[in-house]
Amino acid sequence: MFNALVMEQGEDGLATANLKEIGEDALPEGNVTVAVEYSTVNYKDGLCLSPKGGGLVRKYPHVPGIDFAGTVESSEDDRYKPGDKVVLTGWRVGEVHWGGYAQKARVNADWLVPLPEGLSPQQAMAVGTAGFTSMLAVMALEDHGLVPGNGPVLVTGAAGGVGSVATAILANLGYEVAGVTGRPDTEGYLTSLGATQIVPREALNETVKRPLETETWAGCVDAVGGPMLARVLGQMKYGGSVAAVGLAGGAALPATVIPFLLRGVNLLGIDSVMQPYDNRLRAWKRIATDLPMDKLEAMVRPATLSDLPALGADILNGQVQGRVVVDVNA
Ligand code: NDP
Repeated sequence: MFNALVMEQGEDGLATANLKEIGEDALPEGNVTVAVEYSTVNYKDGLCLSPKGGGLVRKYPHVPGIDFAGTVESSEDDRYKPGDKVVLTGWRVGEVHWGGYAQKARVNADWLVPLPEGLSPQQAMAVGTAGFTSMLAVMALEDHGLVPGNGPVLVTGAAGGVGSVATAILANLGYEVAGVTGRPDTEGYLTSLGATQIVPREALNETVKRPLETETWAGCVDAVGGPMLARVLGQMKYGGSVAAVGLAGGAALPATVIPFLLRGVNLLGIDSVMQPYDNRLRAWKRIATDLPMDKLEAMVRPATLSDLPALGADILNGQVQGRVVVDVNA
């Protein structure tokens, strides 16, 4: 028997989270069983922990947790053997397949990557899906010509998970980073991660007024979407790129095509869920070399399985700073 946070649906159709002991026979089908060590809390986890499952959870009972790191316990796949350290992000694990909020998980070997050299399971989950996606965003911006001399790079939702890791990586790579935040009290935190300019959320969250404003940003990692993304597109420097990662501020994009047509601005979509294996390895390798571990430690808040219901609500309210690391054995 092992501990798991199980979402169970009541007669009113709403789900609640219950910390339970369950047996291995309850685990879903898969060819690798992992002893989970750490998981984390991403925005999507907040949705999966909510009473309606955020439209992501299809079936109850359900174990959320969209990512985890741990040790292979048994494997029917040649690529993994007992004792191997592994990481999982994406593939709709924690949404449609049982996830990492348990001491064991059974998954498909195709969804795993070996724990990157230089990272512990705890550090891998301090990075988690949020940080992995930040690295994909930085790689996409570089692939489209971003280099440190081009000018300041904007990070929206800077004090959140995606934003914190993006800020630390970009600053470490020598970029001048401007962080947009709605929480003025996080200024010291963002500066410690390497941001040199703090932009108040109010300065950017109004619907775009003019299709083009002063050319300001050489690149942008955008975790917010909505009117803020529309506004940022009109402030990009000629040929600059925005990596669209998230929708914390809304899914609608009230923008014009003018920045694309007159300034050659690129809007790059970033998806971490179905990312091909080779690019996953490339991103994790870059994380191990380009994200300073002292900065990573500074953004971490530890948690246990029983903390998760409250943390899920907090992240949906934009109240989580940096990254939460869940020790599922604590
Ligand atoms: P967090 O909640 O940790 O961060 C989001 C941040 O956005 C908040 O901390 C806050 O930052 C800011 N924010 C929240 N609400 C608003 C608002 N109404 N208007 C403007 N800013 C707001 O979440 P994550 O970092 O885990 O995820 C961020 C986004 O990225 C989510 O939408 C998530 O779904 C998406 N995502 C997408 C992935 C992909 O594969 N494309 C993978 C991972 C995440 P501050 O307080 O600094 O203003």
